[in-house]
Amino acid sequence: MNTNKTNDINSKLPNVGVSIFSEMSGLANQYKAINLSQGFPEFDTPEFIKNKINYYISAGLNQYAPSSGLPKLQSAIADLVNTKYNANIDSANHVTVTSGATEALFVAIQTLVKSGDEVIVFDPAYDSYEPAIELAGGKAIHLQLKAPTYRVNWDDVIGAITPNTKAIIVNTPHNPTGTILTESDINNLSKIITDHKLYLISDEVYEHIVFDEQTHFSALRFEQLRKRAFVISSFGKTFHCTGWKLGYCIAPTNLTEEFRKIHQYVTFSSFTPAQAAIADMLTENSTHVYALSDFYQQKRNVLINALQDSRFKLLPCNGTYFLLLNYSAISDVKDVEFCHWLTKEHGVAAIPLSVFNQSGHCDKIIRLCFAKNDNTLINAAERLCQL
Ligand code: PMP
Ligand code: GLN
Repeated sequence: MNTNKTNDINSKLPNVGVSIFSEMSGLANQYKAINLSQGFPEFDTPEFIKNKINYYISAGLNQYAPSSGLPKLQSAIADLVNTKYNANIDSANHVTVTSGATEALFVAIQTLVKSGDEVIVFDPAYDSYEPAIELAGGKAIHLQLKAPTYRVNWDDVIGAITPNTKAIIVNTPHNPTGTILTESDINNLSKIITDHKLYLISDEVYEHIVFDEQTHFSALRFEQLRKRAFVISSFGKTFHCTGWKLGYCIAPTNLTEEFRKIHQYVTFSSFTPAQAAIADMLTENSTHVYALSDFYQQKRNVLINALQDSRFKLLPCNGTYFLLLNYSAISDVKDVEFCHWLTKEHGVAAIPLSVFNQSGHCDKIIRLCFAKNDNTLINAAERLCQL
């Protein structure tokens, strides 16, 4: 056998390796560290959903769903966003159920981006955007946000627009920084998108996790933006079921039609029993969604309080289930090295921020996931307080 055979492939993603999430979770398992790296809840999806999915599997709902999603799930999604964001989303024409937000992001990018197109992304940027842009033949234009506030400078955005600019990707609440876009941010964004006839991909997977009574300014709240936006979310975050890979994309009819042409050849449809179970949860048990911010705010506070006596400097956290820590009082090494050391020597796995920066810029900041039981957070914090 010619073991060099794979080298004949002219890689389409020559700069891509194993994702930081796989790497750090792998290391956490190897060293039996407390895993606060990859973002996933330690607790289970609600009993109601588990009972429903068991019921639907037993009842035989085991064949393909319609490609755009089970109608009752599309309706439940439209009802939720219409109520929460005062939008006028039509379930059949605007909502497409996808296999996680990852698929929705990939398909939205393939729908929009052609060879030579530019897409503006903000660093630190979630890791799946750039490969999808590259595979479409486009180019990601990275605008670096600065710690500790990570605010967008909208004049910089205008300065980065060229005749090739096709779209802007935003993520609010933002992974990995835990910041949120304000109403004034969205107004600026809306003006730029409209004036320059761009499109928006708005990654809102943490839409129901916003703290301190603040508001999530979904692009769906803004009529001008709704006309040119793909708004993407994930049930994995909302219902503690990241392994089910169920999400959705909301877009106007003309964009949805194009989106569905690609979606049908990427996955065609998503796991039917989960769609039915989640539709029931949304319609019969919607309190979970509205209680999620308080639930995670309590977790954030447990972690913040447990780290009070540490030498880490905590950054503000307005949403998501991630908290950033600056370790410059503890070590001078780069964040990737620091995270390896922390996992191997001190039994806590975290995510280094620099991997989300195209430039590799390192502010000595790491990300901790607090979607964990309180005792896990307290045990991890005890270890971190010893440094
Ligand atoms: N976008 C962001 C910002 C995320 O954090 C994640 C997952 N953690 C995704 C997209 C992907 O979501 P899913 O697991 O539903 O594919
Ligand atoms: N989005 C999750 C995180 O930020 C990880 C998802 C994945 O492993 N691809 O940690």
